[in-house]
Amino acid sequence: MQAAVLLGPERIEIQELPVPRPGPGEILLSVEAATTCGTDVKVYRLGGHPRMLRAPALFGHEMAGRVAAAGAGVTEFALGDPVVVANSAPCLACGPCKMGRENLCEDLQYLNGAFAEFLLVPERFVRLNTHPIPNGLSFARAALTEPLGCVLHGIDACDLQRYGQGVEILVFGAGPIGLLFTAALAADGHRVILADPNPGRLETGKALGAADTIEIARGGGQADAARARTEDGKGAWVAIDATGVPEVWSDAIASLRPGGLANLFGGCAPGATILLDAALVHYGELTIKGAYHHRPDSIRKALKLLSGPGLEADLLLSGEKPIEGVEEALRSMMRKEALKVVIRKQAGG
Ligand SMILES: [Zn+2]
Ligand SMILES: [Zn+2]
Repeated sequence: MQAAVLLGPERIEIQELPVPRPGPGEILLSVEAATTCGTDVKVYRLGGHPRMLRAPALFGHEMAGRVAAAGAGVTEFALGDPVVVANSAPCLACGPCKMGRENLCEDLQYLNGAFAEFLLVPERFVRLNTHPIPNGLSFARAALTEPLGCVLHGIDACDLQRYGQGVEILVFGAGPIGLLFTAALAADGHRVILADPNPGRLETGKALGAADTIEIARGGGQADAARARTEDGKGAWVAIDATGVPEVWSDAIASLRPGGLANLFGGCAPGATILLDAALVHYGELTIKGAYHHRPDSIRKALKLLSGPGLEADLLLSGEKPIEGVEEALRSMMRKEALKVVIRKQAGG
């Protein structure tokens, strides 16, 4: 089978590898669509990921396909079934898992290798995080289950029920994740103000339901501009960082009104720190939260949401490429030309 192998920083090789054979409880997935993600760009640049993979490795983690073979004991899925497989599976036995915080599982297993013709899905993933794709949902759209699952987990972390209906929410960053936040929050009736330096992406944000957009400068110092656009200039109840830039984390916190919540969703580099206005946090009773990854429940909800008409997620798909085009796809994302690219065995197939 053909597969994209990450060899190191900005080094990908297309290799011909043997098709894996599923063991007991495992399935072989014929990957029909894999979508590229900001995390893949990070992995490509760094030549690995501190938690998810170490080069040389197969990579790509947003996938949908068909069951091409099943190992002994697999009863839930049959040959040819269209399925979506999430890229992690928790143990369900550790402390965080028992609290329902499976994304923090102490033995979380990750699955990479979607940029290939086939992918071996381990038993734990088959049991906990593989789902049939409902009729009418395309493979490309189904592959968005993973990023949307992360976003729905992030929305849970916003405690929106504390703030009532139609909450004013600032979203910093109009990449795929910021846009998915915008779409999901707007679909729930919230008033999203989307901030980003890229006018084209802000337009997409509007099409996905943003009530207002702000074209901001790159690299922080934008809290005043953002706050000025909120109701009476008081600041937002909730601000979400979807950039992973420490200066923007500070902006998200500084653009809140008293009682507000900052959801620092974008992952920063290890060791990154931010300055915090301590008086603002204390006297304004701000809530500052991190959110990471997804839980099996957020994956199920994401697939359900994608199966309905409520979310124009297709606007995030900027085209298709064959497996040989993975590197080109990631480079077009680095140039901010593409949001997400669908990788398929054959272009247009
Ligand atoms: Zn992803
Ligand atoms: Zn666990």
